[in-house]
Amino acid sequence: MVLRSGGSELTRDQLSSEAAKVAGFLVAEGVSPGDRVAIYAANSPAWVVGYLGVIRAGACAVMMNPDYHSAEAEHILRDAEPKLVIADGARREIVSKLGFKAVPVEHLPRGEPPPMPALSPESPAAILYTSGTTGRPKGALLDHGNFLAQGRGALEVWRWTDKDVLVHALPLFHLHGLGMGLHGTLLGGGSAVLIPFTPEDVVRELTQGGGTMFFGVPSMYQRLCEWLEQNPTDLSHVRVFVCGSAPLPPALFERCAKLLGQPPVERYGITEGGIVVTNRYDGPRRPGRVGFPFPGVEVKLGEQGEVLLKGGQVFKGYWRNPEATKEAFTPDGWFKTGDVGEIGEDGSLAIRGRIKELIITGGFNVYPREVELVLEQHPAVHEVAVAGVPSEKWGEEVTAFVVPSGSKPPNEKEIIAFAHERLASYKCPKRVVMLDKLPRNAMGKVQRSLLGK
Ligand code: AMP
Repeated sequence: MVLRSGGSELTRDQLSSEAAKVAGFLVAEGVSPGDRVAIYAANSPAWVVGYLGVIRAGACAVMMNPDYHSAEAEHILRDAEPKLVIADGARREIVSKLGFKAVPVEHLPRGEPPPMPALSPESPAAILYTSGTTGRPKGALLDHGNFLAQGRGALEVWRWTDKDVLVHALPLFHLHGLGMGLHGTLLGGGSAVLIPFTPEDVVRELTQGGGTMFFGVPSMYQRLCEWLEQNPTDLSHVRVFVCGSAPLPPALFERCAKLLGQPPVERYGITEGGIVVTNRYDGPRRPGRVGFPFPGVEVKLGEQGEVLLKGGQVFKGYWRNPEATKEAFTPDGWFKTGDVGEIGEDGSLAIRGRIKELIITGGFNVYPREVELVLEQHPAVHEVAVAGVPSEKWGEEVTAFVVPSGSKPPNEKEIIAFAHERLASYKCPKRVVMLDKLPRNAMGKVQRSLLGK
C-alpha cells in the first residue's frame, strides 16, 4: 500500500512506523486509551500520520472540519475536551486562543513506539460531528467495531482489492473520506492518491496516475462532467466511480454515463452508520435509487417512511448526550436516520428527503426532492433546491431556488407552469428565486436553512 500526495509517498510500513512514533509522543504527553485528541487541519499525508498515531495510542480521534471558524471550533473543543489538538497553520492560533494545547500537524513530535494498546471492538475510535443543519453539531461516537464493519463492507460491495488505486479528493474529517476512502485503502491493501479536488487533477490521476477508483459527491461529478465536455478523455479503464452524500440528479447520472464511460454507483450513508446502502457493482445502476444494504446492515422503514438502520456499522450513541442518543433510536434499537425512504419491489431503497425538510403548505406535506426532480428536467434549470419559506397564508410556501443553465434567466411563470403540468398543485412552487449558485457545505450538500436568507 502506498499513500501518495504531491511529490511524496508513504508505504504501508512507513505509515505504520511513523504512526507508532507519533503514538509514542502522545503517550509521553499523558494521552491514554479513551482520551480524545482532535485533528483540525486540511487533508495531507501528515493528517493521515497524525490520525493513525492517535489510533495507535489507543485514543479517540475527534474530527474537525478545517473550514470551521473559531466559534464552531469552540463548540467542538468544549464538547469533546481533547487533551491535545493536532492542527495546521492559523488553526493552531484559534486552538491556543480557546485555551487548548495545539501541536503542529506538519512537524508532529515523535517518541518511542509504545506497546500496542489493548483495544476491543467496543473501544471508541473517533468522534465525527454531524453537519448540524438543524441545531448544533452532535458528536457521533464510532467504535473500532463500527469502523471495521464499514471498511470491510466497502471492500466487498465495490470489489476493492490491493491492486486498486483510489483517487481520494474527499475531506478526511468526514466519514466518506475517512471511513470509506482511507480505511478501505488501509484494510484492502490498495493505494490512494490524496489530491485537492479539481477536475483536471482527478482526470490526470485517473489516466497518468493509474487511478482505478474515484469517490465523489454529486457537485464534484457535475464539475467533472463540465470539464470533460470541454476536454473529452477516455476513462473507460476506470474500474468504478462511486457517488453519494447528496442525491445524484438523474440527468447528471446520464451525463456521467456518457462522459465517464459508465454511470457512478450511487450509495447512501450517514455519519452515524457509515455508508450503509449502495447500488450493485454489477448493476443495474438505476438513477434515483440508492440500492441495497451493505453486508450485515438491516434497513427498514418506520413511521412516516423513516429509514431505520441496524447492524455492526451503526454507532451506539452521541458523545456525552444521552437525550439525543435516546431520541435517535427506536425502543427496539433501530437507528432513526431522519431520512424518508421508499423501498421498491426489487428491495432497493430510494431517498425522498429529510423529515425535517418536509414542507407543510396549506396542511399538505411536500418533500422538496420530489419537486426538485421535476424542475431539474426544465432545460433552463441548471440546478435547483426547493424549500419552505414561512408564509402567513400557507404556513410555508413551496419556493424553488434556481441556478439558470444559460445566461438568459428562465421565466418564473414558465417554471411554475412546467411544475403544474407534472405535479399536484399544492406541490408546485409559489415562487421561483434565481441564484448564481446554491449554498453547499464541504460535502456538497445544499444548506437549505440558508436559502431565502
Ligand atoms: P452525513 O451524516 O453528513 O454523511 O449526511 C448524511 C445525510 O446525507 C443522509 O441522512 C441523507 O440525508 C444524505 N445523503 C447521503 N447520501 C445520499 C444519497 N445518495 N441520496 C440522497 N441523500 C443522501
